[in-house]
Amino acid sequence: MSESLSGTCLCGSIKVKLNSTANHVGLCYCSDCQKSAGGPYQCNAMFNSSDVELEDPKGYVKLYVVPKEQTLSGIEKQKWFCGNCGSPLFVRPMSLNGEKSFIKTGILDTAPGFQGTSPLDQLKPTSEIFTKNRPSYVKPIDDAAQFNTVP
Ligand SMILES: [Zn+2]
Ligand SMILES: [Zn+2]
Repeated sequence: MSESLSGTCLCGSIKVKLNSTANHVGLCYCSDCQKSAGGPYQCNAMFNSSDVELEDPKGYVKLYVVPKEQTLSGIEKQKWFCGNCGSPLFVRPMSLNGEKSFIKTGILDTAPGFQGTSPLDQLKPTSEIFTKNRPSYVKPIDDAAQFNTVP
């Protein structure tokens, strides 16, 4: 965990550098995450927004603001993504004053030739939420706390 983690979008134009360790990692099966992922769940790692560094030389970062009528908290959340290739990068809920960013762990890269624990293995989820939407063929992660909706 000594080296800082970093990730890129699919087209490689945007780099996200994480200058701290994650506060928490969880899987989410809510319908927003399912749509954003185009799959059954997203794996979200929470970092302080001040520790999230963006490199976007081509100006591709885009924000979609999820309207407050649609969020659980009733407060807007920002979905940051690459406007060129469409990769999700992270979500920043305004309910937490934008101070926390939920990084999509699938964007994290392993350096070529790196032999250690991969970023996805380092960021093992310790909780799963909205499991009521979990498809029957996906099994719960060992030792991860399970929540039907939210804790
Ligand atoms: Zn991209
Ligand atoms: Zn979710």
